[in-house]
Amino acid sequence: AAPDADAAAILERLSSIKHKLVVLSGKGGVGKSTVTAMLARALASEPHIQVGILDVDICGPSQPRVLGVAEESVHAAGTGWSPIYIEDNLAVMSIGFLLESLEDAVMWRGPSKNGLIKRFLKDVEWGKLDYLILDTPPGTSDEHLTVAHYLLQASSVAAIVVTTPQEVSLLDVRKEITFCEKVKLPIIGIVENMTSFVCPKCKHESIVFPSSTGGAASLSLECGIPVLARLPIDPLIARACDEGSDYLSTADQQSPAVLAYKQLAEK
Ligand code: ADP
Repeated sequence: AAPDADAAAILERLSSIKHKLVVLSGKGGVGKSTVTAMLARALASEPHIQVGILDVDICGPSQPRVLGVAEESVHAAGTGWSPIYIEDNLAVMSIGFLLESLEDAVMWRGPSKNGLIKRFLKDVEWGKLDYLILDTPPGTSDEHLTVAHYLLQASSVAAIVVTTPQEVSLLDVRKEITFCEKVKLPIIGIVENMTSFVCPKCKHESIVFPSSTGGAASLSLECGIPVLARLPIDPLIARACDEGSDYLSTADQQSPAVLAYKQLAEK
């Protein structure tokens, strides 16, 4: 096979990024993008921690909207791409910034998607980062293989798997775990999103998606992968995602979701 001319350049770029975190989910709609964005914000709440988000969900990029920068655009100029800054220490790059209209995204096919991911890994000028968090498409596809292939040539790379307690989602998580085992991508843990709803008035916790199989906890036991966090449903999170506002700094700091994200970032 021809030597991959990009591999050395990607490795060079990754060498200034301490930790690379790939966020995976078996299904769409379980909150993968939300968890990616909120985890990034929680980490970046320490001003000395530099955080980048790379949205490689080529067909459904949601980071621009969730982070409130959907109107921004990035133009490829000179040698690289400058990411969009949300805070001084929080930057994001997404195909959403390169498209005239988000509907264009569906036009991307396999080879061009992988070419674009390579360019993202090679050309985005992050500077020095403590964390690069990658938001990936649901499932396991070419994009995941490309990402895993290049990231695993560098050090300190790991995955987080996001799921809801529903059996349909957990079944697909098993596929993600198998994929990670195959490509030798270590999994730090499982994040269970939408575990329950805590009534803001009476503080009663309702289980919204009862699981016949014990949810992420039993999957965790079965696979030997820890559950890092259980994140409650909070209508304010859904609203913040739609508005692109920062839930974590504006919500009640004692709310179950804020506390859960802070704990997740500490891990
Ligand atoms: P995915 O990236 O897995 O497709 P998203 O992060 O886009 O999923 O989330 C799907 C929808 O659910 C979004 O509208 C988001 O705002 C909402 N959402 C995700 N997590 C929560 C939560 N814990 N509480 C309330 N709404 C949530």
